[in-house]
Amino acid sequence: MRIETQCLHEGYSPKNGEARNIPIYQSSTYKYESTEHVGKLFDLAVEGHMYSRISNPTVAMVEEKIAALEGGVGALCTTSGQAANMLAVLNIAKAGDHIVSSSEIYGGTINLFNVTMKKMGIEVTFVDQNAPLSELQKAIRPNTKLVFGETIANPSISVLDIEKFAQLAHSNGLPLIVDSTFATPVLCKPIEYGADIVVHSTTKYMDGHALQIGGVIVDSGKFDWANGKYPEFTEPDDSYHGVVYTEMFGKAAFITKARVQLMRDMGVYPTAISAFLLNMGLETLAVRMDRYCSNAEKVAEFLCKSDKIEFVNYPTVKGNKYYDLAKKYLKGCSGVISFSIKGGRENAVRFMDSLKLASNEVHVADIRTCVLHPASATHRQLTDEQLIAAGITPGLIRFSVGLENVDDIIDDIKQALENV
Ligand SMILES: *Cc1c(COP(=O)(O)O)cnc(C)c1O
Repeated sequence: MRIETQCLHEGYSPKNGEARNIPIYQSSTYKYESTEHVGKLFDLAVEGHMYSRISNPTVAMVEEKIAALEGGVGALCTTSGQAANMLAVLNIAKAGDHIVSSSEIYGGTINLFNVTMKKMGIEVTFVDQNAPLSELQKAIRPNTKLVFGETIANPSISVLDIEKFAQLAHSNGLPLIVDSTFATPVLCKPIEYGADIVVHSTTKYMDGHALQIGGVIVDSGKFDWANGKYPEFTEPDDSYHGVVYTEMFGKAAFITKARVQLMRDMGVYPTAISAFLLNMGLETLAVRMDRYCSNAEKVAEFLCKSDKIEFVNYPTVKGNKYYDLAKKYLKGCSGVISFSIKGGRENAVRFMDSLKLASNEVHVADIRTCVLHPASATHRQLTDEQLIAAGITPGLIRFSVGLENVDDIIDDIKQALENV
């Protein structure tokens, strides 16, 4: 199936007389015929739902759909994109370990790595993702456990050279985690370029309608966890009577461990109704992504012509430094544009407050056009140095083009620019 068809049909195929839509299994628990069966569930010896902190049939249908869209062996939904990134990393790294991440990533993930993970004893080195491989290699230490980057960075709209990062990771026996939130599997499937784990904030394009926060982790099934660096995968897990993940679950070792160990212990699993709503967003994802991209290309072109704009970050714009990488990896560049208005912070705020159609929101990738000033909001905690490393200037505006008629979006920008 092509991706438009997969968006509609993967994960659920009703039989004769069954509901056309995915059923909402609104239940925290499940019933069994025997105590023996429950015992087998707890030994992971049989498949089945145990408790909705770990899995749920409605959520499972959506997980199956997303795994199919990305070309992975399995997926695990979470209550947020932050939870997805947290579990993906904690499934691999522990106190005393080190991770290497591109510096051009979402501000929340920078905080997660730099503040919270540091408290847990995991150290991070942020690298310039545009540096040559030989330079990036210097960040790798004997205790490095993974490499991390974003396909299209939020909010700098930089495009990751996924193959280069995969080479960096794999030549050191490490997995590559890619946060592909802005690209979605419609614009890029990072696994095809060597990513081992793909994460998303489903809050963004996948949900698409600003209904609910969510995240997902997808396992490519390709990484060799038995390469000697990851004993948690190859040695008996005491919390499951000595289960060895690589032996019992093979290609699905990573995603199974994330679910039965970390999800069990941390409990950040979405509800059935959340998965149902997410599925509605997924059904139209391919169609929506197409329009977001074409609208954004036109808005970016318009912005480039204005003498009040300092620069426009959107990879299809002529001269953009990510033009070639975008051509290589992306079928489109999403609806998110970042640009800087001449006159810095003050003019950026004046422009934002003059917009009538585009709404000022702490959100991105909505069905409606929305706009945000990262330096005063999502990236407020970062120092000036961190801001620059993340590709953010004080006057930078993150403009998330929605599905309105593009001429209405451009008219709104035009009138707001008149106030600058
Ligand atoms: C929003 C976002 C996150 C965090 O996701 P939440 O669902 O808000 O927790 C992580 N990564 C990227 C790239 C994002 O845009």
